[in-house]
Amino acid sequence: MTEILKGKPVADMIKADMTKKIEAFRAKGIAPKIAVVRLGEDPSDISYEKAILKVSASLNIDSEVFNIPRESTTEELLALMDKLNNDTKIHGILVFRPLPKQIDAERVVNFINPDKDIDCMNPINLEAIFEGKKDSFEPATPRAAVEILGRTGYDYQGKNVAIINRSMVVGKPLAMMLLNENATVTICHSKTKDLKAVCKNADVVFTALGRAKMLDKSYFNEDSIVIDVGVSMDKEGKISGDADYDALVDYVAKITPVPGGVGSITTTILLNQVLKAVEKQNK
Ligand code: NAP
Repeated sequence: MTEILKGKPVADMIKADMTKKIEAFRAKGIAPKIAVVRLGEDPSDISYEKAILKVSASLNIDSEVFNIPRESTTEELLALMDKLNNDTKIHGILVFRPLPKQIDAERVVNFINPDKDIDCMNPINLEAIFEGKKDSFEPATPRAAVEILGRTGYDYQGKNVAIINRSMVVGKPLAMMLLNENATVTICHSKTKDLKAVCKNADVVFTALGRAKMLDKSYFNEDSIVIDVGVSMDKEGKISGDADYDALVDYVAKITPVPGGVGSITTTILLNQVLKAVEKQNK
């Protein structure tokens, strides 16, 4: 029987740990707070923002949205970030990306206060992941992908894991996180030869290639564990992962659904980093 790895129980476990920390901070007079910076009215930014506001309210984390026009200049965005970087009441800053073309993204990622960088965009924080530093900020999506299986008690040590994605937001940080868990990691991409063989050979396949239902039974065997990070529309216009879930659900050992899998943990992970930020700023 295939085990379905749902995101909600994992998010609930993380929230339970967070609740205790938040109570302890508040007892000391510290009110954890996230600042969300949105340029314009992008629907996917607004939908993520709504989730952040809802979950932070439920956890008793303060939040504030700073919405500036999509046409803003780099200087205007940096001026806002400077204010937030220096506001002692704000512990974590999230700037929605991708940024519009006129913005110098490199200046922005380097400008964010590294101690408030809850989405881990500053190269200083990315470097800390590569160094395997335990208290570093981490991008929410790869951390959610690691946790959805790890929190069930799965031990990555010595396991062969394949990652289909080499982007800076998913594949590369995920590879480092899994290396830090002592897994043996293979990173795949569009030029990988015989992806099927690599996937079949892996104990766990993490996929984030963004092609609905591309991975069918021919990529897996009965022992495969499939962690699906991909989110795209299938031919019928329904949200789907990279894996052909219906074909695999009675075949592989474990699989994450889309929606309801990795994506449903990311907001909680992001807010958990706000608590990490509080700790960094109150050492
Ligand atoms: P991306 O930058 O376009 O990366 C896609 C990766 O997949 C690239 O490394 C690409 O290889 C590889 N790829 C594409 N087609 C392939 C193929 N046929 N065989 C092997 N590899 C292939 O996209 P991204 O921003 O990282 O996002 C990837 C997916 O994750 C999307 O579906 C996105 O919606 C999803 N996502 C989900 C969450 C979440 O919270 N669940 C968050 C972020 C992203 P090359 O490098 O060679 O091009």
